[in-house]
Amino acid sequence: MTGTLVLVATPIGNLGDLSPRAVEELSAAGLICCEDTRRTGKLLAHAGITGSRLKRLDDHTERAGIEVVLEQLAAGHRVALVSDAGTPAISDPGERLVAAVVDAGYDVSSVPGPSAVIAALVASGLATSRFVYEGFLARKGGERADALARIAAERSTTVMYESPNRLAATLRDLAAACGGDRRAVVARELTKLHEEFVRGTLTELADWADGGVKGEIVVVIAGAAPPAAADDDAVVAAVRAAMEAGSSRRDAISKTASDLGVRRGRVYDLALTIPGGVTPSS
Ligand code: SAM
Repeated sequence: MTGTLVLVATPIGNLGDLSPRAVEELSAAGLICCEDTRRTGKLLAHAGITGSRLKRLDDHTERAGIEVVLEQLAAGHRVALVSDAGTPAISDPGERLVAAVVDAGYDVSSVPGPSAVIAALVASGLATSRFVYEGFLARKGGERADALARIAAERSTTVMYESPNRLAATLRDLAAACGGDRRAVVARELTKLHEEFVRGTLTELADWADGGVKGEIVVVIAGAAPPAAADDDAVVAAVRAAMEAGSSRRDAISKTASDLGVRRGRVYDLALTIPGGVTPSS
């Protein structure tokens, strides 16, 4: 018999979101790893679970905790991992533990449930078919600048976490990087009494946040608009310019297709209309 690590999602503000299966798994686990034993102890008490063995596993203790978890799994026990709120391993400890457990050949399972990233995204009204999760932005330096540039260029919706006291500055930086008219949503206090979705442009949201914001925050940012489709004249001009700069016809067509984001076949057909220079054999 081999053990299993089970990642159990817990409420992000509304205790009613603790699922029956989460209660079942937490009751059955031989060991529950958590960020804060007092906080998880309260959740277990609320769910009527008594006698559980709790072990602290946060960013500082994760390395040592991994050894203990692997020993438990080797002994055939079921180990549960919870974080203070939401889904473990999403901007919370667990990522390295799961990788180590997978590497050691044990099973990993999850009891899905609340996560602020999904709760904010689905209610944002922005595109959900593709999205990128950025977690918390680096506070300064090149890493922050890189993240802002990445978000500015991103075509999919971006979801990120931010603390209330840094929200206004981050929205200003996002407006500078993405353009102030990019649509975004601030989701605040999800699942709680004062849940709120504030929708607008990045500039409007930054102005709103300047007034001071409290509570837990998710920022959802619309993807960058696709570039305007190149018209036929622009395609022909680009092929002509590339050839005049010394490219072969084939290279000029490939370069134009990639630079303008146009189908290669369309560039080829338009290249045939260029008098003289560009012919199928050139
Ligand atoms: N693992 C968690 C999850 O699945 O959502 C996230 C943990 S991360 C350390 C905590 C951050 O998540 C908060 O600072 C906030 O940005 C976001 N968050 C958590 N609960 C939230 C809530 N009820 N409303 C809005 N944002 C929340």
